[in-house]
Amino acid sequence: MKVPFIDLEAQHQPIRDELRRALYRVMDDGAFILGEEVTLFEQEFAGYCGASYAVGVDCGLSALKLALLAFGIGAGDEVVIPANTFIATASAVTFTGARPVLVDVDATTFNIDVTQIESAITPRTRAIIPVHLYGQAVDMDPVMDTAACHDLIVIEDACQAHGARYKGRSVGSIGHAAAFSFYPSKNLGAFGDGGIVVTSDSEVANRVQALRNYGQEQRYVHSLEPHNHRLDTIQASVLRIKLRQLDEWNEARRSMARTYESQLSGGEVVTPSESPDFRHVYHLYVIRVRDRESLQRHLREEGIDTGIHYPTPVHLQPYYANSGYRQGQFPVAEQLSGEILSLPMFPAMLAEQVEYVGSSVLAHLSGSQKGDRKNRQPKREEISIPQTSTSVESYEPRAVPTDKA
Ligand SMILES: *Cc1c(COP(=O)(O)O)cnc(C)c1O
Repeated sequence: MKVPFIDLEAQHQPIRDELRRALYRVMDDGAFILGEEVTLFEQEFAGYCGASYAVGVDCGLSALKLALLAFGIGAGDEVVIPANTFIATASAVTFTGARPVLVDVDATTFNIDVTQIESAITPRTRAIIPVHLYGQAVDMDPVMDTAACHDLIVIEDACQAHGARYKGRSVGSIGHAAAFSFYPSKNLGAFGDGGIVVTSDSEVANRVQALRNYGQEQRYVHSLEPHNHRLDTIQASVLRIKLRQLDEWNEARRSMARTYESQLSGGEVVTPSESPDFRHVYHLYVIRVRDRESLQRHLREEGIDTGIHYPTPVHLQPYYANSGYRQGQFPVAEQLSGEILSLPMFPAMLAEQVEYVGSSVLAHLSGSQKGDRKNRQPKREEISIPQTSTSVESYEPRAVPTDKA
């Protein structure tokens, strides 16, 4: 059996005609930039998140960057982010002229270790970007409390977490603003690049709206930095249709996750843990296993595609080589990067595919255990990660699209 990491074609199959009609409608209207479809999608997405405003942009990176700029963050400022995230969280900060300040992640949730945020704050700190990694919300109460204490802005990086919830609230409505990506493999994906800033602050919404379109507050009056980060009309028309499916797709992901969990838990891999207060939307299903490379090789031989999100933490990326961070500084993020493996996870996945992946994982682990005691997989309690966190019940880990470069 072949199991792709993600199958968008199968996901689009049931809504293919509707999507096709929307694409033709945009073509026939001949209005390709912003316009009514974008405005309607913005209203619908803001409503979906329980926020007042949403401003469509050209990708998740731009959403993060314009949100930071809208709060006046730039040169001389510091922004706290997790060490385990996609590079965009850090580069958005860098591109504003501010400095990303990293904090290690929690060994259970793989999200920012909220107990370590305080010690990363300096007089230059202006904002925190919690990343709802893999589709699981960050423990936001302590983040918001710390931010309130130090008068900081909180911008949620919700690029992997469309529809995730935290104690009954949708991600995107908890911080001062939030950024989402519509990269095709995200839980809500466009037919190309796209992103959106969500906020309930009307001034911030107005500034992002101006910033995405050449700094115009009125036509041909360029009062803010003249960027071009507009969301295409055609993407908005696709996203409006797909948004209506999002809850159903997320439920399908959650159901796959339950199947994986029932097969894999209690065995030789560490499976994601899920708190009942957090609606995890499993953008990625990330397990931890000590001999990751051999498991990944075995699964490839069995026709199963997997991914690693991410193999190198932000501070060890070549681009950040001169940022003053060194190896060993974020031990949890570093250890995770060597042990995490993202299993196939997509809404159109068949039950027999999930079971096949699960049983292939188990077969490899029991095989390698028989073969070589030294290379056997660690038991859950043997995977010791420096427990820096005193906090945190169990929620989960998740990662990003494999087709991401
Ligand atoms: C995908 C992603 C982004 C960036 O989104 P793009 O649309 O690719 O620019 C930012 N942060 C995280 C956590 C992501 O997964």
